[in-house]
Amino acid sequence: MKKRLFSGIQPSGEVHIGNYLGAIKNWISLLDDYDCIFSIVDYHAITVEYSPGVMQERIINAAATNIAAGLDTDRCIIFVQSQVPEHTELTWVLNTLTPMGILERMTQFKDKAQQNEKNINVGLFDYPVLQTADILLYKGQAVPVGEDQVQHIELSREIARKFNTRYGELFPEPQHILSNAPRIMGLDGKNKMSKSMNNYISLIEKPDAIWKKLSRAVTDENRKRRDDPGNPDICNVYTLHKYFSTDSELDRINKQCRSAEIGCVDCKKILSENMVKELEPIREKSLELINNPVSVMDTLNAGAEKCRKIAKETMSEVRSLMGLR
Ligand code: ATP
Ligand code: MG
Repeated sequence: MKKRLFSGIQPSGEVHIGNYLGAIKNWISLLDDYDCIFSIVDYHAITVEYSPGVMQERIINAAATNIAAGLDTDRCIIFVQSQVPEHTELTWVLNTLTPMGILERMTQFKDKAQQNEKNINVGLFDYPVLQTADILLYKGQAVPVGEDQVQHIELSREIARKFNTRYGELFPEPQHILSNAPRIMGLDGKNKMSKSMNNYISLIEKPDAIWKKLSRAVTDENRKRRDDPGNPDICNVYTLHKYFSTDSELDRINKQCRSAEIGCVDCKKILSENMVKELEPIREKSLELINNPVSVMDTLNAGAEKCRKIAKETMSEVRSLMGLR
């Protein structure tokens, strides 16, 4: 039997190249080796300010982009979290096993609390417990994520252990899996590329928009003039080249940047062309799916149905071990 793999993405904005390189490409490469379940985690996305009117569109867009990028729905389940009520039910149970102090130490909570000063709600605080419930509900063993989520997966192991010790062996301890791009930085060069920050290139960006965004991207800040030699080792644009350009291009750009033979604009032009080459088919397929939301919804509904079955079984085991039935 294949091991169960679980991962999720928030419908909190447009899916970007950080999600793609850090998570989605890895999901696609693991499809055959694991029994895969992917969720559009809308209950997570409501922990920050959002507009209800755009939520359904964001859910469809997130699903469409993932499918267009290569998440073959014949080889995995994809579903919307809020269509399976057991996620929040298990969260309540796991809340009773989670010390407040641990949640206070979570880096994401600290970051998001800072970004959302006026709305530091209990849901934002409890986010990692809901995430643990997402995984444990399906007895997920492998969780491919970006580096920012590793701390949460470590917590999910702790919570799983606590449940097993207190109530009886039920949950495997989930292990995170990182890709070769665990932390893509935003175009500001300072923060993690994030949907919630305006520092990303989305998977459905038009070619001219990709160029516009890249042309403003921060490079080696010590390179003040075109004639200054640059340092690719500290340049975020060069880092992005590693995922979109060939080895020989990388080699050439590295040398020509250091000797000031090419400037940042030249370097960005090559990146932009290569990015467009990889992203254009994804954009086209995404738009095709977005324009036919019924087919996407059918896929999501079928996924939710399968998940509800698994989730019900797990919750009944949980209740039975806890003396609730
Ligand atoms: P938000 O800003 O709303 O938190 P996000 O861009 O961080 O959105 P999530 O939906 O929170 O995206 O994360 C989806 C997956 O993408 C997670 O596995 C996360 O670790 C990964 N991920 C997010 N941003 C990056 C990044 N910059 N580099 C690598 N992986 C990332
Ligand atoms: Mg995030």
